[in-house]
Amino acid sequence: MEKTRGKKQHAGSYRIEIRGLVQGVGFRPFVYQVASGLGLKGWVENRNDGVVVMAGGSENQVVEFRDQVIEHAPQAASIESVEIREDTTELFGDFEIRRSHDISNSVTEISPDIAVCDECLADMRSQAHRISYPLINCTHCGPRFSIIRDLPYDRQHTTMEPFEMCPVCRSEYSNINDRRFHAQPVACNKCGPRYRLEIPGESTEDLPEMVTRLGRIISEGGLLAVKGTGGFHLVCNAFSTEGVRKIRQMKQRDGKPFALMFRNLEEARSYVEIGPAEERELTSWRRPIVLLRKSREITGGIADGLSTLGVMLPYMPFHHLLFEKLDIPALVMTSGNFSEEPILISNEQVVDQFGGHVDGFVTYNREIFNRVDDSVIAVIRDTPMVLRRARGYTPSPIRTGTDLEGILGTGAELAGSFCMGKGHLALMSQYTGDLKNLETLGFYQEIYERYCRLFRFTPRMVVSDLHPDYLSTRFAVKLAEEDPRITHISVQHHHAHIASGMLDAGLEGEVLGFSFDGSGYGTDGHMWGAEVMRADYSGFDRLYHFEYIPLPGGDKASEEPWRMGVSYLHHCFGEDLYDLKIPLTERFSRQEIGNITGLIQKKINTPLVSSAGRLFDAVAAIMGMNYYSTYQAEAPMLLESAIDLSETGLYPCRIEEDQVSFSPLIRKVVEDLHQGTSRGIIAAKFHHTLVDLIQQLSMEIRAETGLDRVVLGGGTFQNRFLSEKVMNKLEKEKFKVYLPHRIPVNDQGIAAGQLAIGAHRQLLL
Ligand code: ZN
Ligand code: ZN
Ligand code: FE
Repeated sequence: MEKTRGKKQHAGSYRIEIRGLVQGVGFRPFVYQVASGLGLKGWVENRNDGVVVMAGGSENQVVEFRDQVIEHAPQAASIESVEIREDTTELFGDFEIRRSHDISNSVTEISPDIAVCDECLADMRSQAHRISYPLINCTHCGPRFSIIRDLPYDRQHTTMEPFEMCPVCRSEYSNINDRRFHAQPVACNKCGPRYRLEIPGESTEDLPEMVTRLGRIISEGGLLAVKGTGGFHLVCNAFSTEGVRKIRQMKQRDGKPFALMFRNLEEARSYVEIGPAEERELTSWRRPIVLLRKSREITGGIADGLSTLGVMLPYMPFHHLLFEKLDIPALVMTSGNFSEEPILISNEQVVDQFGGHVDGFVTYNREIFNRVDDSVIAVIRDTPMVLRRARGYTPSPIRTGTDLEGILGTGAELAGSFCMGKGHLALMSQYTGDLKNLETLGFYQEIYERYCRLFRFTPRMVVSDLHPDYLSTRFAVKLAEEDPRITHISVQHHHAHIASGMLDAGLEGEVLGFSFDGSGYGTDGHMWGAEVMRADYSGFDRLYHFEYIPLPGGDKASEEPWRMGVSYLHHCFGEDLYDLKIPLTERFSRQEIGNITGLIQKKINTPLVSSAGRLFDAVAAIMGMNYYSTYQAEAPMLLESAIDLSETGLYPCRIEEDQVSFSPLIRKVVEDLHQGTSRGIIAAKFHHTLVDLIQQLSMEIRAETGLDRVVLGGGTFQNRFLSEKVMNKLEKEKFKVYLPHRIPVNDQGIAAGQLAIGAHRQLLL
């Protein structure tokens, strides 16, 4: 090799800095193995932003070391950079792992939970003491965040603490050349926690017997509560209409789609389209639920009316063992909770709440300490975008270029989550659910206290939404009242959406933001939800917004899209709306419609709203697609799912000063309905109208301001059709377009935006 000839081959010292997510994932033992395998002297140590290696050896050895580290790194590690410098330190003796004492490391030492690795799956067949052991794990895989009570991350600080290692496990744990060296949850059939199946009148801890019985229950359409990594799942055969119906009835939610766990990729491919990026996500160690386009209908009741299906692959050893005994390709695996309550984690609670409803309980006797639901992602133009950030992601921090220390964003309400700043890291809590729910609020407060302790966080500034009634706002107010040293500031909801997109992309300076969602409290006291703004971290200027429309019945109208349908029709047609021959006016009586227009005219409980979500609601209702919604964003999701991809036409809309009026669009939709135009075509034209509008406004604003960076934020951009078309069109016009992908684009991401804005305001204070 030409390039190495003539290079120094004598021993020297090198300082190697490896940056990225390399802590708490077995990285130091891995570095040790590579280094000692190459005969290097020196040591490895954790630092705040990665690990530092001091290596004594030849330059060739060090280059080889770097290549091996990059190529064979543990699956949950992510290396951002490796930097090598010559150093003068003299190194002696064998390579060693230095223990870190700096507590600021603690932030990165908590790894998210990691799906079982292939080596462990192989060990489960071959290692005498771990044959079919359903909680097998190693340094590269297994539970982490869900079992960690405290730091440092040692076994006695996890819920593995009651289990004493047997001599075999201990020898593996202590052997630096073993894959289980310092694997805190290490366990085996002899010494580890055990699974248990309880069915009315009997129970078993015998694994082969258990999975055989489970196979039978599932194939007969039975229902099970199964303990997972971060909480319980409700499980049934995905092809059993009866099982699906039972879960729906029990969870008290009518239409919200259920996620499925497929045996493997091949089986999943018979029902959904899986692109290369989606395959990468499905099989990644994070094992999220991935939203995929259906290619064939599956059992009714799972995801009715939707073009997508939420799919995941087995991630616990037990899931693999179970599928071995099943002759079906997929299971429904939905969070074990009622309606919008947090996912259940305790064996007792599950028996208490689901007893009498399910045909069996599968539990194990290791406690789940941190509740963490399955994460949900969608791939947009080859980029995975996290929509619900929880298992496999939490508590991995987001690295930023800003000092965020001591700042807390308390988030919004519907998708509760907080975000705290530690140095330059933004630490997002897991998704908690709707904070209007008391149990959810309790969960939120509990994890807030835990994060404070785990990450040694002391708030100096709390940042909340402007909405005075959000429980997350009240939480912020309370923190500030209890401690006068804490400053409290409020941030407008849609500004926070844009700031969170900026933080996600590492943007500074001014951007053009489109912040579209269901609703958020506006600075004029109205409900906002379709904002076009020029914004930076310190403030925003609202350039355009959707026309204000009455929201008859307030919150109730968000759950009953037909009310918004009536409101838009009334706005366009006045009393003539009764003469329209369209699904909505045929479905509801003159009197029912009159009650709604009465509210509007008398202005009773009818705030004004400028919202993209409510516009989707109105159009879906006018078309007769959705009158009452049974889950969050049902109407928009149905509308997106209905799109006829071959249609490229659009509807008119009108810009009057700073307001966008959709009256022309509503009139044309009604005309199309009168002419019998299909839903698919109407849905497509509606979406193309919004894409075109965003493009027109962007061009206009760029001409005036020069802004050419566009940030998309708010739950409406979870709509993949809309986001992809907008990004493609704007990029064609030479805009740079940013859609957050690590921070959820929906309200779970609000807290991160608040944090970023808080950090900037603090500089100005
Ligand atoms: Zn493993
Ligand atoms: Zn053991
Ligand atoms: Fe929002």
